[in-house]
Amino acid sequence: MSTEREPRVSSASSGLLASPDASSPNLDDFPALVRADLETRIRRDKLDTWFKHLTLASLNDKEVVFAVPSGFVRDFLTRNHLAELRRAVQNVGGHARAVRLIVNPMRPTDGDAARRASVEAVLDKITEEAPPLTSYEAEQRRTGEKRSEPSRAPENFIKPTSLNPAYTFESYVVGVCNRLSHAAALAIGENPGRAYNPFFIHGGVGLGKTHLLQAICHAVHRRHPGKQVAYLSCEEFTNQFINAVQGGKLDAFRERYRSVDVLVVDDVQFLANKDRTQDEFFHTFNALYNSHRQVVMSSDCAPFEIPTLEERLVSRFKWGLVTQLEAPCYETRYAIVQRKAKARNVEIPDEVARYIAETIDTNVRELEGAVVKLLGVATLTGRQISVPVAQEVLSSVPRPRPRRVTLDCVMNVIAREFSLSPRDITGKSRVSHISLTRQLGMYLSRHHTDHSLEEIGRFFGNRDHTTVIYGLTKIKKRMQEDRNFQAVVERLGQRMLAAQQQMS
Ligand code: ADP
Ligand code: MG
Repeated sequence: MSTEREPRVSSASSGLLASPDASSPNLDDFPALVRADLETRIRRDKLDTWFKHLTLASLNDKEVVFAVPSGFVRDFLTRNHLAELRRAVQNVGGHARAVRLIVNPMRPTDGDAARRASVEAVLDKITEEAPPLTSYEAEQRRTGEKRSEPSRAPENFIKPTSLNPAYTFESYVVGVCNRLSHAAALAIGENPGRAYNPFFIHGGVGLGKTHLLQAICHAVHRRHPGKQVAYLSCEEFTNQFINAVQGGKLDAFRERYRSVDVLVVDDVQFLANKDRTQDEFFHTFNALYNSHRQVVMSSDCAPFEIPTLEERLVSRFKWGLVTQLEAPCYETRYAIVQRKAKARNVEIPDEVARYIAETIDTNVRELEGAVVKLLGVATLTGRQISVPVAQEVLSSVPRPRPRRVTLDCVMNVIAREFSLSPRDITGKSRVSHISLTRQLGMYLSRHHTDHSLEEIGRFFGNRDHTTVIYGLTKIKKRMQEDRNFQAVVERLGQRMLAAQQQMS
């Protein structure tokens, strides 16, 4: 490199570097001059994003080599801006030279501007411009090679450290409420990427989504120890993505998640209202799906019910298999009570198991909580496990919280706020302020009640769920564009909560 860093630029007969008084030009200026030249043709924000960290690696009569901080930037510039770079090099250096980009991951000395910039601004640019390719994929494209699996260092292996060892297929009780989901999960554990891809499982809290997802991971690890499995919650995915952007490690983040064999993301309903993460997830999904890698997701509602989930994601999630976990029926609850006690080496008398299964009919988490509590109380007090003891324990098990706000409460608050009658709001009128109030009601209902899109649609004048989704999108967009409107929506939300509290 040292010989290359002493190029003979004097041969340049014209151009900025060859100005008569530049007898010993400072070559460190070369990238700055190139940038200045590019500035006349490329938007400033683009320049800041993609050309800011361009440094000179070598320069001779025939070729200029620039170093960029990552393979991602190199691929992007090569694909989109190589011709402009060549032209700038010619203008600055006086004659045409070949331009080559190499990756020099050293951080630039002037501090990491990307880290200082607001995350949103950086994310915006990336969303707008980034090609959905990992450098692995770009490499494949360049070489035309079609390897079935990327080579990977052993330390890249994503260990299932975050998995609960108890969440296996063996400990999962199967009943009519979960038979299909369980069968699909088993098949995926046996044959990831082949059976059902993607696999999307949804259902209310405590019905066993996380358990099934982790059981898939355990099974893959056991049956296919060489396969990389990444299990993480959607929130972790989001946080890691933001950290990667802030820390300039987006490339590594993409490489990591786009090269696993099985990606399992729990609780994808948290993609709601996160446009950038949705976009990143979309590209991750495509990269994996296109190379027949398995994607498994869970959510507390069906894909189309996730507020503001982009249509392209909704449709992709449905490409494979979507199953729903239902609340367990009595027989399944009874079996779960027995199984959970047995797992703790305790036999529960039959009538006690029946009593618990009859009393707690909401979800498995509560059922399990009741069993654990009963066993704990019996051990601590030295009492026999019996129905009276179970009654005592169950009376102290917290029951599910009531719905936060009722639909009627939403209606009352918006009707009063906008001086309209409920009949106006649920009616057919498309007059803009009435439509807007209706959409606002739908939005507030979605965020402050536990009702499904269908229920909300029915309540607001027998409309279907697509109308509700349309309404939610409109309100969200307007909130993003108009801070005053956002403040109004937030204030109405608070008013509804207060009104509901007064009523209960
Ligand atoms: P979710 O992710 O749907 O909220 P979890 O998977 O966390 O629910 O399940 C809550 C608890 O109930 C966990 O301890 C899990 O082991 C248990 N559980 C749920 N379904 C079953 C089942 N069919 N058999 C055994 N345990 C179950
Ligand atoms: Mg869960």
